[in-house]
Amino acid sequence: MRRFVVDHILPDQGVVLIEGAEARHIAKALRMEPGDEIVVMDSEGMRYHGLIQSIGTSRVAVEVKGPIATPDTPPLDMVLCQAVLKAKAMDLVIQKVTELGASRIVPFLSRRTVIRLDEKRGENKLRRWKEIARNATAQCDRAIPPQIDDVTDFRQLLSATSREDGLKVILWEQERSRDLKDVLRQAGPQEKIVGMVGPEGGFSREEVVQAMEVGFVPISLGRRILRAETAAMVLVTLCLYEWGDLGLD
Ligand code: SAM
Repeated sequence: MRRFVVDHILPDQGVVLIEGAEARHIAKALRMEPGDEIVVMDSEGMRYHGLIQSIGTSRVAVEVKGPIATPDTPPLDMVLCQAVLKAKAMDLVIQKVTELGASRIVPFLSRRTVIRLDEKRGENKLRRWKEIARNATAQCDRAIPPQIDDVTDFRQLLSATSREDGLKVILWEQERSRDLKDVLRQAGPQEKIVGMVGPEGGFSREEVVQAMEVGFVPISLGRRILRAETAAMVLVTLCLYEWGDLGLD
């Protein structure tokens, strides 16, 4: 049964509304009809069996039936701090690390970030990223969407993460003495990993030193230079493979 994320499900109201692009997708692309069965889920992890009651061009009314068990969240709290990339690459990172199970995404601007964001543009991008994460959450049937923070800058990111517990790693292609395998194995089982990936132009040496001062360990993913979006997906995959639920329990 197809799944759709809605803002809030209040079962006692008996009906939830799916609106906007999602409603148009149901009506036009999926050509669903009243009486079709779907699953509605909200961003707090509540999910219910639903029956489409009525379909308009921008609003679908769904009768809420019985609750459905919510899948587990990964045992590893995987936080990805990602320098904001150009549009398509950033969209790809958001979608893929949502499927992979990242719990939180912290977009940030650093010295070599290619794009510049004013407040309005930042808000628009955040709205778009949250929509991508919601759709990926429904598609991959994860419990809840990842939290996506407001765009921050490198200095504020270091200040905020300096207070975070867990293993902290910064991906740096010039690192020559530590790789992810060593660090994950030496650190042992983790409940939380905070991983930082740079922009298209990479981190400056000074930024890496500043990250180390608040506990980030610079690590290499090997001698090839990966695109930032590739590095982000590899980092999240390997961490969730090692200490998460990318596999069978
Ligand atoms: N400075 C790089 C260059 O010389 O082309 C560009 C940075 S790379 C395209 C983007 C980001 O991906 C880097 O900031 C780093 O976080 C990560 N990255 C790419 N390849 C990596 C590698 N082999 N090891 C660790 N991190 C890597």
